[in-house]
Amino acid sequence: MDDTERILLDHQTRYPAMTIADYVKLLHQNTFGPKHFGADPAIADVREFLAAELAKTPDDPARAFAEDIGGGYLRIPLAAVRAGRIFADLLAEAFHRSMRESPEPDDALQRAFRDKLDVLLGLIDSGIIALDPVASRDYVERFVSAGVRPVHHSPDFNRLYQPHYRVVKAESIPREVPSMNQNVYVKPTRFRGIDRNPSLLGFGCMRLPTLVEGKPDIDEAKAQAMIDYAYAHGVTYYDTAYPYHHGMSETFVGKALKKYPRESFFLASKMPGWLVHSREDAERLFREQLGKCQVEYFDYYLCHALGEENFKAYLLPGVMDFLREMKAAGRIRHLGFSFHDSPDVLEKIIHTFDWDFVQIQLNYLDWTAQDAKRQYETVVAYGVPCIVMEPVRGGLLATLSDEAVAIFKAADPQASVASWAIRYAASKENVMVVLSGMSNAEQTADNIRTMTGFKPLDAGEKGVIAKALDAFLKNRTIPCTSCRYCMPCPHGVDIPWMFRVHNDYALSKRKRDFVWDYEETAAEKRADRCVACGECLPKCPQRIAIPERMKDVKALYEGIKSEGGMGMKIVDCHRETMPATRFIGRRYGDADRNESGGFGAKWGEAFATGLFAPLENLCLDTPEGKAYVGLMRCTPAFQYWIGVFCPAGTAVPEGYGSVDLPAMALSVTWVKGKEETGDLYGQKTHDASIDAARAKGFVPVEAPWYFERYCEERFLRKDAAGDVILDYCIEIRPEPARPTTDVQ
Ligand code: SF4
Ligand code: SF4
Repeated sequence: MDDTERILLDHQTRYPAMTIADYVKLLHQNTFGPKHFGADPAIADVREFLAAELAKTPDDPARAFAEDIGGGYLRIPLAAVRAGRIFADLLAEAFHRSMRESPEPDDALQRAFRDKLDVLLGLIDSGIIALDPVASRDYVERFVSAGVRPVHHSPDFNRLYQPHYRVVKAESIPREVPSMNQNVYVKPTRFRGIDRNPSLLGFGCMRLPTLVEGKPDIDEAKAQAMIDYAYAHGVTYYDTAYPYHHGMSETFVGKALKKYPRESFFLASKMPGWLVHSREDAERLFREQLGKCQVEYFDYYLCHALGEENFKAYLLPGVMDFLREMKAAGRIRHLGFSFHDSPDVLEKIIHTFDWDFVQIQLNYLDWTAQDAKRQYETVVAYGVPCIVMEPVRGGLLATLSDEAVAIFKAADPQASVASWAIRYAASKENVMVVLSGMSNAEQTADNIRTMTGFKPLDAGEKGVIAKALDAFLKNRTIPCTSCRYCMPCPHGVDIPWMFRVHNDYALSKRKRDFVWDYEETAAEKRADRCVACGECLPKCPQRIAIPERMKDVKALYEGIKSEGGMGMKIVDCHRETMPATRFIGRRYGDADRNESGGFGAKWGEAFATGLFAPLENLCLDTPEGKAYVGLMRCTPAFQYWIGVFCPAGTAVPEGYGSVDLPAMALSVTWVKGKEETGDLYGQKTHDASIDAARAKGFVPVEAPWYFERYCEERFLRKDAAGDVILDYCIEIRPEPARPTTDVQ
């Protein structure tokens, strides 16, 4: 791509409402510089004009950056002066000097200018710049035949972008003026059904900075600054969804983008299908989302998190009809879905309706491990562009292992480890946008650096990733492919299953899950039954030293068990009391447990569906009331509630259930460990807490209630070792009344 093409495409991204006159003005400026100002005005006049214009210029921090316009010239918005990024005098001098030093419009320069106009018309003819080819050619021919003369911005450009700037030679201003000259890349690929490509980097708004760690409330000042920075660097795709930040993401994104011309960015949001039971639900939610985002239309609208289960909502009468009607009415510009299920389910969903794009999880670890390759190929075969989520696999690919990091750093000391993962996803030909859920300014800047002047990975770089991935997996996982050639083991060991259990732990570090899986495996199939007979060895095409690795799996299990077993320990146990309450929320039973026996999916659903929002103002004003609670009772029938404690007698909102609880004595155990590993939760915590209570002489009542509290500082703030403390509460018998002493 030559310099002219690059500048034109950069400007198309940054100023999508540019007309042919604006493009011609841009090329005029990058050929002749600021020559058109007039005949050699004095520096005093230049200063005076500048001061007068500055007085009329609004503050606009998002635009206060130097912009490369090609040909060695920069456009310096007067907003940069107002933001203190350059002194007015300095800009006046740079402009004065640039004007005087700009070349005369001789024949050679005129020819160069016409060549650039040809590049422009070529991009228009090929549809890359979306302007009318006939009208554009007509304009250019008339302009050229009238001779070289100053060009004005179009009225639309003036109205939308309020241009106040000076064009100067790049070398005439200090380097410290921050530059917009490297904009985030936009793929030139023509994707089916997409008239204007968004930036290759998309801003995911699901993990925005928050006011308190672990809480959903967005730190709006920080998040706004990140969005402004991204916008100023050419990020045009912003992705939110109904449940992000407990419903607050859409509202914030609407506010944050409000200051920018609507046509200058692409907004994506998603239908929460799990709340849709009828067409009316879909209509209501869609209207609500438009309102929260303060827009008339979504550029990209997705059916959220489709899989076998979530897809059912779209098969209900009228639901897809409604979305199609919204598309016909221009309220949805492109309709697609995000996907979380197997490739077979993707095949089914993609061929059930007409889609404009599909969003999948794609990264270099999941390419084979999670069948991302098959999913990507399914989307390619269907012929629509891919939007990628989780390119860094929830942060895992930003850290990897020391050995893998060393491989990346040796290949490119400047590039962050995460940047390799972002580039991997972006390099796939059919990928139009790579989303990154940005949580802080550093990540935002790093992503923008990565996607600026983006180049797809070359063969050598792909080799670096493969090598680093090998190093990462080698130290952590056993390269078993589950081919089962080694089976049966004459001593009963389920070899591939044991390796699978080990590998899941190696990647997730979830000790609880590892121990659970190991202990759920029939005793005769476990690693400890291996007698190292070696019969399996010659059968393994991966040449895995199976007996040795079986010893590793056994040692891992024994090691985790011996260190307290589950990556958690009880650090305190004491008595508390709680007044009579009404617990309001949703009730679940054994049938609602997920594969590992827990209710994690129901919690995810609770947050995704905004279950807590109507309850926030009803809660008890005690530590219990400040927490979202998982409340459980095992007898007479098992019941598990997700909700909040409210004062006794609180009216129950429609659609919720409740249970009235008497005043209680509680045994509260403090369970210490790493929250992110999941080790704090589950049966072992329960058993250990019961043991701790009994050791203190506390006696659980018959059919006690149990619950976990997540509201205390000790849970919300990690200590230096990264541990937090969970409160696990068990209903116990009241303290026996003290015997009174009769006084005669
Ligand atoms: S070495 Fe171990 S796993 Fe392999 S066949 Fe013998 S007992 Fe089974
Ligand atoms: S033969 Fe090797 S790769 Fe295949 S299942 Fe057995 S251990 Fe795994």
